[in-house]
Amino acid sequence: MKRSDKSDRKTRHSLRYYVSCYFVILTVIIIVLLWVFQYFFLARYYRSARIRAISNVGNILVESYRQGEIEAGMKRAAFDNGMCIVVTDSKGSLISGENNLGSFSYFMQDMFKTTGYYMHQLREELNSSGKEELTKIKKNDSLKSEEIIYCRSFTDGSTVLYLYIEASVEPVDSTVSIIREQLVYITIIIAELAFIITLFISKRLSDPIVNLTSKAKKFADGDFDVKFEEGGYKEITELSQVLDKAEDEIGKVNKLRTDLIANISHDLRTPLTMVKAYAEMIRDLSGDDPVKRGEHIGIIIDEADRLSNLVNNILELSKLESGNMELHWQEFSVHDKIHDILTRYTLLIEEQGYDIAFEPDEDRTVCADPDKLDQVIYNFINNAINYSGEQKRIRIRQINREECTRIEVEDNGKGISKELLPKVFDRYYRGEKVKRDIVGTGLGLSICKEILKRHSFAFGVQSEEGKGSTFWFEIPVTKSKTDKPNSGKNKE
Ligand code: ADP
Repeated sequence: MKRSDKSDRKTRHSLRYYVSCYFVILTVIIIVLLWVFQYFFLARYYRSARIRAISNVGNILVESYRQGEIEAGMKRAAFDNGMCIVVTDSKGSLISGENNLGSFSYFMQDMFKTTGYYMHQLREELNSSGKEELTKIKKNDSLKSEEIIYCRSFTDGSTVLYLYIEASVEPVDSTVSIIREQLVYITIIIAELAFIITLFISKRLSDPIVNLTSKAKKFADGDFDVKFEEGGYKEITELSQVLDKAEDEIGKVNKLRTDLIANISHDLRTPLTMVKAYAEMIRDLSGDDPVKRGEHIGIIIDEADRLSNLVNNILELSKLESGNMELHWQEFSVHDKIHDILTRYTLLIEEQGYDIAFEPDEDRTVCADPDKLDQVIYNFINNAINYSGEQKRIRIRQINREECTRIEVEDNGKGISKELLPKVFDRYYRGEKVKRDIVGTGLGLSICKEILKRHSFAFGVQSEEGKGSTFWFEIPVTKSKTDKPNSGKNKE
C-alpha cells in the first residue's frame, strides 16, 4: 500500500470531527452517570443514608442516657426523625420510650404484649451475633411501608440495657418520579449545551489550524512572503513563529541558491567568452602572426587558470561547508611558517616593488592544520597585494598574547567601507569596483572563514576606507597537541 493511502486513511477526518466525537462521548457518559446515580441508585443510597443517620441517633442517645438526659434526647430525636425509640433492660422491661410512629409501630404493638416478643427476638439475635448493634429492614404490613429496625446494647455502669429504634423508610418512588422528570429536562439542556459548546470549541480549535494550513500550502508552493499569523492559542502562536522562522531560513537558502547559480554562471561565462573570443581571433586573424598569436594564447591560458581557480575554490568551499574536510592537527613554529610563505613573494618584492615584511614576536609553537593555515595567510596576503593600491606596503605581524598568538596581515590600501565590512567573509562577495585584472572569485575569504571556523579560531577584520585593512586570526595557546582549541569566536 502506498504511503499516501495509509496517511489518507489515518487522517480521513478533520479536527472538528474528532473534537465533536469526543464531546458527544463525554456528554453521553455524563448523562448516563446522572441517570444511573439519580434514578437507579437513589433508593439504595437513601436507605443506607437513613441507616447511618439512625445509628448516629443511637450513639447520641446512649451518650445522653449516660448523662441522665435520655428523656429530653429521646423526645427530640423521635419528633425530628419520625421514630419510635424504646429503652429496656435485659429482660425486656420498659425503662423509657417515645413513639412518633403511631400505634402500628412494631415496638408499640410489642409493648402491649406481656413478653415483648419481637424485641425479645431482636435481643437474642444481637447477643448471638456478638456485635454491639443490629440493623434490619422490615416490611410493616400495617403501615404499608419499609421500616428500619435498630437495636443496640449498652451499659449504664452496672446493668446491661437495650436501645431500640424503629423508623420508616419513606417511599422514594414519588421523589424518583420527580427526579426522573427533572432528569429528562436536564438531559435535554445538557445535550443542547454540549452541542453548542462542541460547535464553538471545535471551531475555535480548528480555525487557526485551517488558516495556518492554507498559508503553509502557499509556502510549500514557493511563496516565501506569507506571514503566519499568531493567535488562537499558545501552541498555534508557537507553531506560527516556528513556521515564520523556517520560512525566513528557507527564503535565505533559496536566495543564496539563486545568487550562487547567478554568480557561478556569471563567473564561468566571462572567462569562457574570453576563451572563445581569443580562440576565434587566433583562427581568423592572428593565426599566422606568432607574436599576436602568443599574446592571445597567453590570454586564453590566463582565463583557463581563472576558470580552474574558480572551480577549485567552489569544490574546496563545498567540502569545507559540508564538514568533509578533515583537519590534520600538527605543532609547528610560527616563524618557520610565515618565512616559508614569504619566500613565495620574493619575485614580487624584487620585480614589482612590493614592500612585504614580517614583524615577528618571540617564536612560538602552535597547534593547527599547517596546510590550511598556510592557505589562510596566503589568501590574506594575496588580498592585501590585490587591494593595496599604490602603497604596495604589507605587514605580516605576530603578536604574542598570554592566551593566544595573533597573526595580522595589514595593508595601506583603499580599505573597506563600514557597510561592506560585515560582508567580506560572505560567499561570492566581491567589492563593487574590483577590477577584472585582480584575479579573484569572491570565495577566498569565505574559504578562510570556514577553515578558521573549523579550527575554532577567533578571526576578523579591521578596516577604514582610504587607510587600509588588517585581517587577523588568533591561535589559542595549547598545552599539548591533543588539547585542540574549540572556543574561538568570529569577530568579523
Ligand atoms: P576576491 O577573490 O574577490 O578577492 P575574497 O573573498 O578574497 O574574494 O574577498 C572578497 C572581497 O573583499 C574582495 O572582492 C574585496 O572587495 C574585499 N577585500 C578583501 N581583502 C581586502 C583588502 N585587503 N582590502 C580591501 N578589500 C578587500
